[in-house]
Amino acid sequence: MEGFIPKSKIPGENRTALTPDSAEKLIQLGFKVGAETGLGDKSGYPDKHYVNKGVTLSIDDSSVNEADLVLGLDLPTPEFIARLKPGSLFVGYLDPFFNLDLLKAFAAAKVNAISMEMVPRTTLAQKMDVLSSQMNIAGYYAVIKAAERLNKVLPMMMTPAGTISPSRVFVIGVGVAGLQAIATAKRLGARVEAFDTRPVVEEQVKSLGAKFVKIDLGETGQTDQGYAKALTPEQIELQRQGMAKVCAQSDIVITTAKLFGRKAPTLLTKDMISGMKPGSVIVDLAAAGGGNVEGTILDQEVITDNGVIIVGEGALESHVPFHASQVYAANIASLLEHFWDKESNTLKLDLEDEIMKGCLLTHNGSVIHPTFLEQLADA
Ligand code: NAD
Repeated sequence: MEGFIPKSKIPGENRTALTPDSAEKLIQLGFKVGAETGLGDKSGYPDKHYVNKGVTLSIDDSSVNEADLVLGLDLPTPEFIARLKPGSLFVGYLDPFFNLDLLKAFAAAKVNAISMEMVPRTTLAQKMDVLSSQMNIAGYYAVIKAAERLNKVLPMMMTPAGTISPSRVFVIGVGVAGLQAIATAKRLGARVEAFDTRPVVEEQVKSLGAKFVKIDLGETGQTDQGYAKALTPEQIELQRQGMAKVCAQSDIVITTAKLFGRKAPTLLTKDMISGMKPGSVIVDLAAAGGGNVEGTILDQEVITDNGVIIVGEGALESHVPFHASQVYAANIASLLEHFWDKESNTLKLDLEDEIMKGCLLTHNGSVIHPTFLEQLADA
């Protein structure tokens, strides 16, 4: 089977879907691997490292139409999908809840499409979980970015010139990104508080040495996949009231609150931000999914009238592309390894497998995933 990996065409995207190590793994499985020259330049993986592992490089991505397998990082365009070979497999980000048209394009091109975001969050599939691998790094980098923009230091410093008190960091949403943000801010010496609507999170927050902010919202809970359930408008209002004072005292607020498959809830209103100190920094990690903060502009930095900096970058993990690529590429390689059939020496799309059922969205010219079939019927 021939795989081909094009270079990312998005200017701010520094990651790659194939690293020399993941290429080696695919070649050992039995793939022939081709890629576009300069594939890993922006993430710190030079061409010669790929060549040394056995990858064939081409000056452009024109051979994408001959490949049986294409790995992606950019959201594919309809034009790109139309270039793929019928019967081939595309594996990458599809953000499918917000891109039903892409699924139709994959079906029309008779290309089988795997959406890495849809890999079930089960123990068996943990090593294929791109949401975790990338959000972990984004949570780390959100703190680094905020610390760089803040006009204060994070740790307490006792100096002959006086004592500097620690900066206060408030993390809203304690999933994968939030936990890493808490841990990073603690390591940098900040005083950290956190809130999440899932009550089970309180213990995890405390175990990292941070304080859990208590806000009584009544019944909240989580789905059987561990995701937060959407709150009622009344609950959101209660939450905002409960958080306003903490935000006003914080130097850094990091919001990571997402709802799987839905627009992110607006948790910080303009009113709450106007109560914050000038020079404080908000990093909205939900920016790409609609944002948790009123006034966030995707991929931009905004300074409000009262001097609060709002960072709305969509893919913070792309600022540390070496490691973000390492884990993204490893996630994909693990998925391919799981479905590699040693007897036939080919990739087997086992439609009965729980992982495959979760992430294969189109097959043999049709959209097959029940969630999106339903959405298409309603559209
Ligand atoms: P996510 O990105 O969907 O959301 C981030 C966090 O925001 C979540 O903790 C969510 O509860 C929280 N949130 C939603 N609405 C909120 C609100 N109004 N106010 C405050 N917080 C709000 O979450 P995630 O990081 O993808 O993790 C989701 C769950 O999946 C977690 O339980 C996590 O432990 C679990 N998980 C399981 C596995 C596995 O078993 N393999 C892997 C990764 C994550």
